[in-house]
Amino acid sequence: MQYYSTRSSTGYVSAAEAILKGLAPDGGLFVPVDKAAPFNIDDLKEKSYRELALTLFKPFLSGYTAEEVEDYINGAYSNDNFDHRAITPLRQLSSDISVLELYHGPTYAFKDIALQVLPYLLTGAIRNTGEKSEVVILTATSGDTGKSALEGFSDVEKTRIIVYYPEKGISAIQERQMTTQEGSNVAVAAVKGNFDSAQSGVKAIFSSPVLGKTLEKAGFRLSSANSINWGRLLPQVVYYFSAYLELLRLGRIRQGEKVNYVVPTGNFGNILAGYYAKELGLPVKRLICAANSNNVLTDFIRTGVYDSRRELCQTISPSMDILVSSNLERLLFELTGHDSEKIEDWMTRLKTSGFYRVDPDTLTILQKHFWSGFADDQKTIRAIKSVYQDYSYLIDTHTAVGKDVLEQYRSDTGDFAPAVLLATASPFKFSGSVVEALFGQGEYSGRSEFELLSILAEKTGCPVPANLVGLEDKNILHGRVIDPDKMESHLLSALGLTG
Ligand SMILES: *Cc1c(COP(=O)(O)O)cnc(C)c1O
Repeated sequence: MQYYSTRSSTGYVSAAEAILKGLAPDGGLFVPVDKAAPFNIDDLKEKSYRELALTLFKPFLSGYTAEEVEDYINGAYSNDNFDHRAITPLRQLSSDISVLELYHGPTYAFKDIALQVLPYLLTGAIRNTGEKSEVVILTATSGDTGKSALEGFSDVEKTRIIVYYPEKGISAIQERQMTTQEGSNVAVAAVKGNFDSAQSGVKAIFSSPVLGKTLEKAGFRLSSANSINWGRLLPQVVYYFSAYLELLRLGRIRQGEKVNYVVPTGNFGNILAGYYAKELGLPVKRLICAANSNNVLTDFIRTGVYDSRRELCQTISPSMDILVSSNLERLLFELTGHDSEKIEDWMTRLKTSGFYRVDPDTLTILQKHFWSGFADDQKTIRAIKSVYQDYSYLIDTHTAVGKDVLEQYRSDTGDFAPAVLLATASPFKFSGSVVEALFGQGEYSGRSEFELLSILAEKTGCPVPANLVGLEDKNILHGRVIDPDKMESHLLSALGLTG
């Protein structure tokens, strides 16, 4: 499979090159040039997670040998890295709702699924393309990508990993996971403002030709661990299939029966992988896009107008506090039959005017595949509480947004097809909000999120995940807070190129 940019239909590259570059040179995102042949579900039925990954990756990873890909998968999805044998276990919540737990990796968010394998794909790409420079992975994070990328890339040779997170608006646990990161090739800084300002700072660094030259001369090349990188998307296709196959094995669905997937969404990366899974033959009915109060995507899917002209609000599901969802560009490219002119036009409008409207045909096909609703913090809290009361099962704030939106979908459409709810983070990562949801504000007010970890464990009988134990006592190694316009000079000094 070859890849090209969403903004021009020329310039084919291999998967290895697309993963190495991260972003296409014209500012677009890399997508497969052709459609891969759909898979036959029957052929996949008995496969383990690793075997399934191998099968699904196969048509997509040009520029790597089959042995390499197998090594990467065995390295990434080992039982040392994931604390559950199934990698992404499926829990039955009720007769027609299952929860797909995507948080059994080292940092307890779904990002680990892709970010455990991305370092292999990237170092393989460096080798196979003959890249001489050291690759600098530049990452803006709304909380979970940062730690997940640090964990994946720490001490990986020929790479540096630099993470920027918004100073306010991530959980204390998320922040401490990052500021205590060890490794000789890592740098982490807080950026004043919200995620969008950190993300646009990173995009500005990527598109500065002057800086690019400076880095090139010094032997560095930039790449990205954000979901703009194709290497982040492909691994996420696998668990959409694994959930379906598990439902089949359990006899909870019939062969060919269509299933709804509910996805707590921010940058549109996770749910886009669901769209690709559907294109690859997975019987998906609807992809339900669950947003928090930053409900740009809900408005878009309902009206066809993407309007980012609004204040970003901080919610208790911070990893979804995003107004510019990068991966939507890939979806629109697919839905328009690879019309790069349209994409260029819409993306330019978004950049210059803050909004764009898609044409009626695109809206129709968008609504055929997707439905969207949003849940504010109050509904999120209620969903955590009711799921615990009804099923003795803990969900985090992001997953709770999904649960509430699934209920909205069902009452709005009357469609009670079996649903898979993607659980994107461990409830312990957001212990503050989860404890408040379950036991009210009063009793534990003033306790730190770290104290609340053990309170949550005691009260529910679920153990604190291993890598969060003792987190509070670790040394803080990265304490810098910088202005967004200082990101470039921070980057240079982190690479030892100034001062
Ligand atoms: C990143 C993240 C999301 C949003 O995923 P996207 O791929 O950006 O849409 C949702 N929940 C959690 C916990 C996350 O870390």
